[in-house]
Amino acid sequence: MKYRTILLFGAPGAGKGTQGKILGTIPNFFHFACGDVFRSLSAANPLARVFIEYSSRGKLVPDEPTIELWQQFIENCERTGRFHPDTDILVLDGIPRNVHQAEMLANTLDVMAIFYLHCPDFRKLVERLQRRALKENRLDDANLKVIRDRLKTYDLETKPVLNFYGRKLVHRIDSTQTPVQVLGDILGRIAKVRGIDG
Ligand code: ADP
Repeated sequence: MKYRTILLFGAPGAGKGTQGKILGTIPNFFHFACGDVFRSLSAANPLARVFIEYSSRGKLVPDEPTIELWQQFIENCERTGRFHPDTDILVLDGIPRNVHQAEMLANTLDVMAIFYLHCPDFRKLVERLQRRALKENRLDDANLKVIRDRLKTYDLETKPVLNFYGRKLVHRIDSTQTPVQVLGDILGRIAKVRGIDG
């Protein structure tokens, strides 16, 4: 059985985490943020070092350990009763992050919709990331060069994921709006997605 899935998509700083956390509080929605899981690894885990090595340069962690971590985390949530794939919709934030990851997950995910938090204003993204650096103590948000590299990685490697799934699944949301307006747009559309509409 494939996991019924919604993807939160968009550049670093577009607001995926903010929206994902809120959606995850709705009954029958389960939120998974890939970056959060990397950041929660204990220092003793060798992958924690790999994560810091890549994320501090604005690069993606290699695909194999990323997908393996994802699989272990989700299976653990299933085993411990936090995630119920027969009733829950999986809300993925930050994964799949390139076409290869999307291919690796093709047999696992039934992607029903993609919410593309679109932000045409580069300066706004940078501003948000720099604000977050202070609030959440994130090293990768503090350095302008790293921010630029992450936005470049997003353009080159992550954006093609939209074409992989096809435009029909994509709901474009203006992420320059306030969080509550973005949430309103997502909720207005999510309820109409076939399979979620009850
Ligand atoms: P943002 O959306 O602001 O870039 P994330 O918390 O999603 O922040 O990601 C932080 C970093 O974690 C990324 O720059 C990357 O190095 C790593 N990362 C997160 N998700 C993935 C993924 N699916 N594949 C590879 N690397 C990832």
